[in-house]
Amino acid sequence: MAAGFLDRRGQSPARLDVHTYSNIVARVASVLRSSGYLSVRKLMCTVSFVPKDQGFYVAMNRDEKRSRSIALPPRIVTVAGCRAIFPREPNGGTWIAVNDAGVCLALLNWHRIEREPAHKITSRGQVVSELAVKLDSHDVADGLKNLRLKEIRPFRLVAIVPKEKAVAEWRWNLERLSEYKHPWSIQHWFSSGFDEAKAESMRRRICEKTAADDIDRLRGLHRSHLPERGPFSICMHRTNAATVSYTEVTVENRNVTMRYKPGPPCLASPTVTKSL
Ligand SMILES: [Zn+2]
Repeated sequence: MAAGFLDRRGQSPARLDVHTYSNIVARVASVLRSSGYLSVRKLMCTVSFVPKDQGFYVAMNRDEKRSRSIALPPRIVTVAGCRAIFPREPNGGTWIAVNDAGVCLALLNWHRIEREPAHKITSRGQVVSELAVKLDSHDVADGLKNLRLKEIRPFRLVAIVPKEKAVAEWRWNLERLSEYKHPWSIQHWFSSGFDEAKAESMRRRICEKTAADDIDRLRGLHRSHLPERGPFSICMHRTNAATVSYTEVTVENRNVTMRYKPGPPCLASPTVTKSL
């Protein structure tokens, strides 16, 4: 790609101004994504929320390329007197967390927004790890505004706050942070780097048919191969990518538990359980 830049401008990349160079890189990345070359690095997940009488369940399948570093199982972290549980990437970021106030956060990439940060890029994984000990939806909103959002690729952040019976979602498109309120009822979110609109439509239909209103149906949904085992099934399988973990959060009154199972949910593997 560097050779193309040399021909286009007749000068080395080092002499291009940083902003122009970043824009060119972003445009090339966009073309590659639309042609499928970069789709594996944009993989993501399915998140489900199921309310209970005295709490809720959240389940999350994380889809990733097989070559990505293996994540570390959940552990309990204490920050300023508040405890949270979350698995983590080797770089410290995470995609799901729950704390001792029962506040659960889950982050999805937002693939439909093609923009890239103009300059420095900070991992999206830092969003949830930074906000993991927030105690209510206002805290989460304030925490988001304090992040360096301009350095973070587009994302959707879901927050479940049981004491407010709030299901909140923030969407960051690299220009604006928008907040949405969802009802305290079964919800699903999807993202996929492989034809996101089609994956969402197909997975939503499967969720509607399943009516995952208890833990057994919820687990069954997240290991589902409907309509067939492949890129659109909720338990996702592709040549170079797959669902790499299943994380389940249970909040019931003051009891908070996270269960984490590495590997595709359809395969047997040991589950790590942590409780607060
Ligand atoms: Zn599977």
